[in-house]
Amino acid sequence: MFSFINLQAQYKAYKEEIDLEISKILNQAQFIAAPCVKELESNLSKYIKIKHSISCSNGTSALLAALNAIDIKEDDEIITSAFTFIASAEMIALCKAKVVFVDINMQDLNLDINEVKKAITPKTKAILAVSIFGQMPNLLELKKIAEENNIYLIEDAAQSFGAKDDKNNISGSIAHISTTSFFPSKPLGCYGDGGAVFTNDDFLAEKIRLFVNHGSKQRYLHEIIGVNARLDSIQAAVLNVKLKHFDEELAKRQELAKIYDDNLINCKKIKIKDSYTSVYAQYSILVDDREKIINEFIKNDLPYAVHYPMPLHKQPCFKEYNKLTLKNTEYVCKHIISLPFCAFLDKNNQEKVISMFKNL
Ligand SMILES: *Cc1c(COP(=O)(O)O)cnc(C)c1O
Repeated sequence: MFSFINLQAQYKAYKEEIDLEISKILNQAQFIAAPCVKELESNLSKYIKIKHSISCSNGTSALLAALNAIDIKEDDEIITSAFTFIASAEMIALCKAKVVFVDINMQDLNLDINEVKKAITPKTKAILAVSIFGQMPNLLELKKIAEENNIYLIEDAAQSFGAKDDKNNISGSIAHISTTSFFPSKPLGCYGDGGAVFTNDDFLAEKIRLFVNHGSKQRYLHEIIGVNARLDSIQAAVLNVKLKHFDEELAKRQELAKIYDDNLINCKKIKIKDSYTSVYAQYSILVDDREKIINEFIKNDLPYAVHYPMPLHKQPCFKEYNKLTLKNTEYVCKHIISLPFCAFLDKNNQEKVISMFKNL
């Protein structure tokens, strides 16, 4: 079967190593906080070149931990995109702060930096930049803007783990705090839910570490109010194996993305900024008539997905924003479509998608 993301092929490729590591956890019965969790954190820190990596239960709790660390309060404003998965804005709203949605640019579909500048007020506490589809915005520029205004830059790197900017900085290493997700279909995925928070700041790291474990370092001593958002041992064991193979997977992703780039016609591709890399969490394109293209996918029995059909400011849960207009965000939500993609995409299957577009 031709699936949108081939997770079974990936498991088969690493099956022996993964089964062995999982069976070790099962035999030790150390399901929470086995040594492999600390190992993973140190492997992640080495990989993205950051001082602190704090593993956690998913990308959503990673965002919550990051927002808690910067002491977000009611009336604080956080600038973010409406072209993203709900979690980015959802956690801001859950903290009772004000989400300030800013439009995206039509090149890489990340936040429009000029619009970000215009949206900063004395109440702004942070910019939450989402590295959408696997490519960072210019985070160094955003960080400069944040520091000039004495506010934080947070990167939601749920889709961009492993991506690089033009100065060879890895996603997760630039912002004051970065968060990622290891949901199975993300570029680096585990076999359940998982996430991590990254920072070079000792003080923020300590707060994040406490927050994800009931505010506690020492059992039954609780320094701050927190939650249970720990990464479990089995997920950490799986991630330690997958991280070893991650660069090979990224190379395959680049190769397969290039085949789409070079051969797809009758669509508009998303620009990768000069000397940046994308990890292609999604390989998405813009098409004029999406209904027609979707019918072609269905007719040819090919998998596809739409990321995202509804901008966050039009969602029922954000009804106070429903009248807001964000031109680019709304346009992209109407015209975007994601093609089947992963490191294990079969080239014959990829060719079927390419010929479907040729025959439009
Ligand atoms: C997947 C995703 C999240 C949430 O991650 P979970 O692990 O599913 O909680 C947050 N932000 C973005 C941009 C995502 O793509």
